Amino acid sequence: MKIKNLFVYAALASGMLGSSLHADAAVGEIKIRSDFPGGNVVVQKIEAGKVQIAPDLRGGGAWFYWYFEAEVVQAGKVDFVFPEKMPGITSLIGMQGPALSLDCGKSWAWAGSENVKDNMFSYDFEKVGQKVRFAVTFPYLQSDLEAFIKENAGNKHLRSEILTKSIKGRNVEMFQIGEPGPGVKAMLMTARHHACESMVSFVLEGLIKSAVSDTPAGVKFREKYVLYVVPFVDKDGVEEGDQGKDRKPHDHNRDYGKDSIFPEVDAIESLADSKKIQLFLDFHCPTLRMDIHQSMYFVGTKQTPAHNEAFVEEFAILINKGLPPKNPGGPRVMLQKREPMEKGSNCNRYFSYKEGMIMAATLEVPYAPLKTVMDVDNCRKIGEAIFNAWVKMDFNQTNPGEDRAKFMEFQKRFKGSPANWESVAGEILNDDKSPALYRIEASNKMGYIRARQNKYQEAADFYLVALKDAVNATPDQKATALTQMSVIVCKDPGSTLEKVEKQLAEFLDFAYSSPSQQTEVLGVASAFYENKQNYEKALQFAQKQLLAGTKYDTGRILNKIADLYDLMQQKDKAIEVRKESVAHLRKNLNPVPVGIFGPMMAFDLVNALNGIPSSSAEEKREAANMALNHKVCPQNIKDAILKSLGDIDPGKKD
Ligand SMILES: [Zn+2]
Repeated sequence: MKIKNLFVYAALASGMLGSSLHADAAVGEIKIRSDFPGGNVVVQKIEAGKVQIAPDLRGGGAWFYWYFEAEVVQAGKVDFVFPEKMPGITSLIGMQGPALSLDCGKSWAWAGSENVKDNMFSYDFEKVGQKVRFAVTFPYLQSDLEAFIKENAGNKHLRSEILTKSIKGRNVEMFQIGEPGPGVKAMLMTARHHACESMVSFVLEGLIKSAVSDTPAGVKFREKYVLYVVPFVDKDGVEEGDQGKDRKPHDHNRDYGKDSIFPEVDAIESLADSKKIQLFLDFHCPTLRMDIHQSMYFVGTKQTPAHNEAFVEEFAILINKGLPPKNPGGPRVMLQKREPMEKGSNCNRYFSYKEGMIMAATLEVPYAPLKTVMDVDNCRKIGEAIFNAWVKMDFNQTNPGEDRAKFMEFQKRFKGSPANWESVAGEILNDDKSPALYRIEASNKMGYIRARQNKYQEAADFYLVALKDAVNATPDQKATALTQMSVIVCKDPGSTLEKVEKQLAEFLDFAYSSPSQQTEVLGVASAFYENKQNYEKALQFAQKQLLAGTKYDTGRILNKIADLYDLMQQKDKAIEVRKESVAHLRKNLNPVPVGIFGPMMAFDLVNALNGIPSSSAEEKREAANMALNHKVCPQNIKDAILKSLGDIDPGKKD
């Protein structure tokens, strides 16, 4: 039974089921529908408390895309059972269980794997008439793109145009960010060649948002690049809920070269010619559960364009440095030697062999690996990291000693003990013939070692090597040196106000610092001014830090801001900010993250509650126990919490 555009319901066949089931199963009708954008399901059978479903392949190869709504007329548990075997597919449910939405697809969360067993998952419907949407991924559809366009409508750097029309007559959008001009490289990014791979659309949002921003990085990006983005290559597939992968005779991704059958692909090829695209990045999501597909990775052609692999390697390292907490890791670089294909070529191979290209690759971002946070917010942060990496790329292969592939290998030698770092750095610094790129890297590494040994003046001298060499230092090396120099200057009790101000002004104007580098410097800057009792200024930096930090930093920074309001004698404001901190932390501690952020945020919550006079002992106990009972809570956090609780006994039950 194939279902689309209609309600399906199965009344209980009274003879089939005994009345003993009535107590806990959702007996009666279960309605399944998929007649909305992105919807996809085949309902095979519905019985009491159990629905047998399958992905609607619509003539494509075996794949795992499904998205439907279930409505029950009675509360209780329902099992959703997929076919036991589908050739070529290991599983139809992701590592973090199904995605679910309680508000008709507006917001999504991973349900977790607790209620997943083999080829089925179950859901406990709370009330009669409850409608819950389930999907293999967080859907990202035309309405989401339109919301994004609307949200950025006032931004003059984001131009939205129509690239072409799809076979079914839908508009296919293209964004342009920045303007072409002398010395400006043209870049193309594409997503959803395979319609179902929706998680990358959130990544792309984060990237675009950064590219159109007025931050130093946004400004620098638009100086260096003009970016064209096609967010939905297979627009019809996205809206109609096709998997898109392995369409017959071939999918959009294999439609490059001669005789394209999809108008989108024709239009992208023409766009690339007319805009003289030199850089190409295509976004995908890999398979659901295969272990090699649980981190980010690059695929593409190793040997062309010249230095393609070295550039992708460098790009991957820069991305990795900027990733938010709980990311899927990588990206690993898995480019292969491949010959050109005349017809039916996939897009990255087409672009690899296109004349005038500098770099071309496909980035795979997994749906939701175990132990990662792949929600909308974190996916956008991954997009920001990719953006920050792009800004730092200088595609420099001309200077001697600048073979980036060799340089990447060299960087990997810094590992293990500080003594090993010193010896690797010494080899370079003691050799007059070492290329500047290597000297700068060795100096940065020595700066790091010396700062850890609290030898700040020596560390500063090492960081100056990168800061003084405007020609040879890469943007990433400058970012490292400037960040650490700023930290040293702010922490040095001997620094004059003038010196700190000059240092911070330089840092704030700098385009290549990552969010974590900004969080670090803005924090020490705030502390510097707090020490000088300039609380206004300390507050300004803490508020900037709030914008740069991750959601795991938010509670701690809000608590700091509240402390500053206390010092400014604004008690009411301080309490208001602590309440904001409590709300944020409770939301992010439900459930308590299993990693180190769990106890750290619980500690922040205790601190926030301690600063609110109306907090009850029970609230504090509850927060404290989230950390104290946590598997990975460090002893110093436990000690600090017990001390801060005073005479409240966390073990007591009310
Ligand atoms: Zn794909």
